[in-house]
Amino acid sequence: MLDNLVVMPTCLPLVLRRCHACASERFRASGKFRVNANHKLIDAWLLVLCTACGETEKLTVLERMNVRSVRPELLDRLHDNDPGLTAELLQDPVVRRRNRIALDWDNAWRLDTGGSDHLDREVIDVSVRFTAPIPVRPVRLISEGCDLSRAEVERLITEGKLVSAVRLSGRLSGGFTFTLKR
Ligand SMILES: [Zn+2]
Repeated sequence: MLDNLVVMPTCLPLVLRRCHACASERFRASGKFRVNANHKLIDAWLLVLCTACGETEKLTVLERMNVRSVRPELLDRLHDNDPGLTAELLQDPVVRRRNRIALDWDNAWRLDTGGSDHLDREVIDVSVRFTAPIPVRPVRLISEGCDLSRAEVERLITEGKLVSAVRLSGRLSGGFTFTLKR
């Protein structure tokens, strides 16, 4: 039997970018977009606000695109300030690269363990699923999901009692499975 752990966002991540007004490095999404259509060309930005001074900065979503090449559904969502669109765009690596931003997911996600009735079995196979690509430490997830201290998790890895096809050191942002033998 496979147990499931799910990593899910609880709110939008912060945007890491230096503020030109106060040198703070964190912005939060305003939830608003600005769209500028000039003849056949369209620009669109996601507006973010400095968490320290409130300065507004624009993240480029569309840059001088021909209006007819933009999906009408996307235009509607931009004009409606669709809240789900902000989350989708921040998770889009193309948008992040274009704007040279990274995301700060601290305190913006949680682990759904689906109860803890699996904890007393001798061997458990666990599948970890991500509903958004949130970079987290597997050791932290396993510690929280299996109710073990991080030191215990490290020890079980060293002793070969906690195994996975992926490297459990560092961070992961996509699904993986592991087996725990006690
Ligand atoms: Zn600022």
